[in-house]
Amino acid sequence: MDVETFADTECISSSGIKVDVDLMDGMDEYLKILDRHGIKSTLFTVGDLAPRIADRLRPHIAGGHALALHSYTHIAPMSISVEQFREKIRRAKARMGELFGVDVVGFRAPCFSMDKERLNVLRELGFRYDSSHLDYLPARHTVKMNFNNYQQLRPNVFRKGNFYEFGLSKEKVFGQPFPISGGGYVRLSNWGFIKALIEHHIHHHDYYVFYLHPFELTKQKVPFLKELKAYDKYYIKQGIRTYSQRIEWIIQMLMKNGFEFVTFEQLVQVMDKEQ
Ligand SMILES: [Zn+2]
Repeated sequence: MDVETFADTECISSSGIKVDVDLMDGMDEYLKILDRHGIKSTLFTVGDLAPRIADRLRPHIAGGHALALHSYTHIAPMSISVEQFREKIRRAKARMGELFGVDVVGFRAPCFSMDKERLNVLRELGFRYDSSHLDYLPARHTVKMNFNNYQQLRPNVFRKGNFYEFGLSKEKVFGQPFPISGGGYVRLSNWGFIKALIEHHIHHHDYYVFYLHPFELTKQKVPFLKELKAYDKYYIKQGIRTYSQRIEWIIQMLMKNGFEFVTFEQLVQVMDKEQ
């Protein structure tokens, strides 16, 4: 999960609209589903949000969920300079480590906004992995990344030295890659359509990534923001009531196909052993 407030949602933050709810209860809803199945997850948390929700996160981390970084503030890394990125992430990594007493080794970029230069920064700062490779150009703030000099381990998994890129899962639709790894992609799509893509994918691969945001599972009322564009209004509301059921079905599907559920931190260990 990318642990961020409702106000961090790109279409809201870029609109400048102020919202008075954080809809963070969706994180508890998600972890309840996972805990029912004994599944551990990685919580990619925004650095400046972490101190405010530290007491809420600590029991989950003590219970085996992993903590990773979702940047310092929820700003697309590609919208700031490499030097600014380095400085912000260096500080955020240290601060999160102190706050929770864990070594933060994972990163996911807000808006999956990442390039190779910024990946190099993560490697220099001692991260073991990044999980921002979406490779879906209609998404805002993303760029086409090439993984020359990286060893490709799976369709969306790359390695350089002891550093991994764990990309998001995709399937081809009319010859174009389409994300099937959660978020709005699974929530907004017709269930029959997305279910068939996920099913096909997990029959042919041994790696599947699922992510989402707290607001996507909130039980609270999502505010009506009349200033938003029509699509963004749809994006923040559609499918929220039925998402937990879809997640449940995806978990069942993965279990039936013999998948094991791991945090990205555990996946690093698995991949280290494969070498
Ligand atoms: Zn985010």
